[in-house]
Amino acid sequence: MIKVRCDLHIHTALSPCANREMTPTNIVNMATLVGASVIAITDHNSCRNARAVAEAAGQKLIVLPGLEVWTKEDVHMLCLFGNMAIAESFGADVYARLPARQGDSDLFGQQYFFDAGSRIIGWEEQLLLSPTTFGVDELCRVVLDLGGMVIPAHVDRTYGLTTQLGFIPEHLPIRLIEVSKGRKQPASTRSYPYVTNSDAHNLSALAASVPWELEIEKCSPEGVVKALKEKYPYE
Ligand SMILES: [Zn+2]
Ligand SMILES: [Zn+2]
Repeated sequence: MIKVRCDLHIHTALSPCANREMTPTNIVNMATLVGASVIAITDHNSCRNARAVAEAAGQKLIVLPGLEVWTKEDVHMLCLFGNMAIAESFGADVYARLPARQGDSDLFGQQYFFDAGSRIIGWEEQLLLSPTTFGVDELCRVVLDLGGMVIPAHVDRTYGLTTQLGFIPEHLPIRLIEVSKGRKQPASTRSYPYVTNSDAHNLSALAASVPWELEIEKCSPEGVVKALKEKYPYE
C-alpha cells in the first residue's frame, strides 16, 4: 500500500467565483508545495479544465477529474471519477441540464478554459453558477452507475446537503461527507465519516490546504477512487 495525501475539492478559473490565478500550472505547483499527492478538480457544473490540469501535473500528482454539481435542491455535491473520458461525458450531461443563462463576467467573473501550459484557450459563455435539473437522488444514481463517487460538499454551510435538506436521507448511497475547514461536523451527520478539503478558489486557500491521508494500491485516479470506496463502504 502507498500512502498519499489528498485535497479533493479545488476550483480552476473556469468557476466564475474562482480567481484568475487558478491555472493548471499554479494549482499543480501549489498543491505539490503543500504536500498533496492527489487532487480533484471540481469546478461548478463542469470538468472541462480537469484534463489540462492532469496534463500539467504529469507524474507529479494524481489528478481526479470531478465536478461540483449544483442540484435542483440547491445542494453542492462533489462528483469524482477515476476516468477522464467518463467524467467528461458526464460533464456534458450536466452542462445540458443547466438553465440557458449567459454568464455575466462583470457580475459573476470570467469562466476560463486553459490548456496544459495554462494558456487561456477560450471561455465558457453559459453561466456555470446555477442549479442543474439533477436532483440529489438521480445524481447519486447516475454517478454511481458510471463508477464514480459522490461526496456531499461542505455539509456544514450554505449549499450543503444537511443545510438545505436538514438531514442526510438514509437511502442515499453516501459513504463520506465533506466538512469545511475549521467547522464542526453537524450533529445530524455524525454517523458519516468526513474529510476536509480546501475548496480552494484562490492560491492562498490552496496554500493553506491540509491534505488528508489515504492508502492506495495503485497510483492512478482509478486506484484512488477504488481505495476511497473500499475505505468508506456503505453501512
Ligand atoms: Zn460549494
Ligand atoms: Zn467548491
